[in-house]
Parts: sequence; C-alpha cells; structure tokens
Amino acid sequence: MAQVDFVNVDKSYGSFRAVKDVSFTVGDGEFVALVGPSGCGKTTTLNLIAGLLDLTGGEIRVSGKVINDLDPKDRDIAMVFQNYALYPNKTVAQNLGFPLRMRKVAKAEIKDKVEEAARLLDITHLLDRYPRELSGGQQQRVALGRALVRDPQVFLMDEPLSNLDAKLRVQMRAELKRFHQDLNATVIYVTHDQLEAMTMADKMAVMSGGVLQQYDAPERVFEEPANLFVASFVGSPAMNLLPATRVERDGTVFATGEGWELTLSDRNGAAARRSETDAIILGARHSSLALHETETSGAIPARIYTVEPTGDLTYAHVEVGDKTFVISVPPDRRIAADQPVWIGFDQNKLHLFDAKTEQRIA
Ligand code: ATP
Repeated sequence: MAQVDFVNVDKSYGSFRAVKDVSFTVGDGEFVALVGPSGCGKTTTLNLIAGLLDLTGGEIRVSGKVINDLDPKDRDIAMVFQNYALYPNKTVAQNLGFPLRMRKVAKAEIKDKVEEAARLLDITHLLDRYPRELSGGQQQRVALGRALVRDPQVFLMDEPLSNLDAKLRVQMRAELKRFHQDLNATVIYVTHDQLEAMTMADKMAVMSGGVLQQYDAPERVFEEPANLFVASFVGSPAMNLLPATRVERDGTVFATGEGWELTLSDRNGAAARRSETDAIILGARHSSLALHETETSGAIPARIYTVEPTGDLTYAHVEVGDKTFVISVPPDRRIAADQPVWIGFDQNKLHLFDAKTEQRIA
C-alpha cells in the first residue's frame, strides 16, 4: 500500500479550470472520500491519479514517486467505476481473473488469487455465474474483487454505490468499510453523498468549484466546518444559517435581525468582533436548538411553518423572518403549524461566520 500526495494540482479543460491548486496527502492505508456537489471536480481529480487525464500543473506522487507522466497501466492503481463494467460473457471467476490473464500471470496463481478474493468478498458460491445472474450488490462485489486481485498500491472508487437501491447502499457501505479495515488499503473514494463520506472515510476532502475547501476527519468537518460552503454541505438536515448584524452596546456584543436580538456569550462576542464588517451569519445544527412554546429570555421569536415526523425524531420547520430553520424535537412533542415559538441557542454549539469572507470565526 502507499501514500498519495497531491501537490498544487491543477487541471484545465481548454480555458476552464476544473481543479484549482489542490494539495493534500492521503496517508498509507487511509480511506479518503472526495466529496462535493456535481461538477466540483471530484471525478477529474480521480482521473488524474488514474492517469486517464494529464495534469495542467502540479504533481501527484505515489509512495514518493512522481507519477504525472507514467502510463495508466504502469501506475499500480485499480479503479472501481459506478457501472462496474463487468464482462457479460464471462463468468464471475473469469471476470475476476481477467486483469491477471492480461498480465500473463500463471494459471495456478490466477486461480489462487481469484479464490482468495472471492472468499474475502463472500462470493465463492457465485464464481460460475454470469453477471446477468447476479444482484446489484453481488455485481458490485465482483467489481471490487476484480480490483482486489491486482493487489494494487491504491484503490480508486468513483461513486461505486450510486446504482444500488437505498437498502443495499447502506449494506454495501458497511461492507466497503470492512473491506478497507481488513485490507488496510489506501482508498480514494468519490461521492456526492456526504453521508457516505461521513460514515466510511478516515478523512474527507470537501471540494467546491474545483477548490479544496477542507481536508479533515469527518467529525472535524462536521463540528468545525471551515466556511459557509462546508457548513451547508455536510450534515443532514443542513446547518441552519441566519444572517445577522453585529451590534455592540456597553461592551456586550449582540447579533440582531428583523424583530430579534441575541446576546452573544463572551466567546462568541469576541469572535464576532473579528468579522471584517458588521455582517455575520449564525450557524446552528438542528439538534443544538431548543424550541420553546412560551416567550423565553434569550430566545428569539419565530413561527412553526410545518411539522415533519420521521419516526425517531420530528423536524419542526420554523420561520424566523424570511429564513426557515429546522429543529429536531422528540416525536411525542405536540406542536402545530402556525404556532408561535421561541428558538433558544446553545452558545457553546453556535457557529459564527464572517458574511463577507464566508469563513468560520467561531
Ligand atoms: P459529478 O458529481 O457530476 O460527476 P464531478 O465533481 O465529478 O461531478 P467533474 O466531472 O470532475 O465533476 O467535472 C468538473 C468540471 O469540469 C465540470 O464543470 C465539468 O463540466 C467540467 N468538465 C469535465 N470534463 C470535461 C471535459 N472533457 N471538457 C470540458 N469540461 C469538462
């Protein structure tokens, strides 16, 4: 297995810069998820490592060796695509062995490696079947197996679960995680699904507009998002964001909006003073807010827009001026649309963003 370094990587298609000065290191044996919305440059980045595209600038190193100009077949990297690309006229065993046959590996060795991969992925009973005789999840495992038999330095995966139904996706998520743990493989995994990234990855590389926005462990990305983009992309429901104006009176800092004013704690007040202008944005996760049904000191007035029960939790959609907040409450809480409410903030969990730079300041 291997470490992968991206050093000031740039990729342009004609005059369009799809990947902009991206640098990060994937440690040996780490599972890194590249996440971001459609068109942010994830697949381009993956294809640069695979050698399917040429870099416009920068370097990619695998185990310390620059691979920019190395032919894809010499890179010792295996890629698993979203459409599996299994050969329909070959059995599972033949599909698994194919990459080795192409490399003229001895028959006995192919047999051993295929059997080992099949055992690891629990598909031994499927070796004589054809792809059309397999479920989506089984096809997925064969595709993984085909990458596995090559024993590559790095696995690249491009949305490998996106064609599966919701239930199978959750199951395969756990299997992929286990696969990574068992093999200690270096994996770079592309997904637009932040939950998939949160649940599986050691680190997340969050991209937007070709720029790496944050590279960190999932819990850090969730709890300490670098900026407004990351805050709104990671977490479901998304973080509640409320534009406000910073006001200071007698040494106390307040965040104010139309019809409300929130006294900031000392820590948050000090942070708010660091914003470039008086325009700030409050950020709060649904689980960190309290919903009061009577006027409560320190809480801001709002109105329930709609109530969304999900079984385990109920999501109250609450209007504050022209913004809507989502607040989770226990399922037995009796609340109704149009009811006036007051939102209480836990200042230890409150985030503040500079509205001008969009960076997090608390
Ligand atoms: P998705 O999740 O939709 O697959 P992505 O994050 O993987 O998106 P990329 O496929 O890397 O995004 O594309 C990044 C940007 O580069 C997009 O704006 C896309 O339109 C553009 N792009 C991709 N391939 C080409 C190409 N061959 N020529 C010109 N522009 C391209």
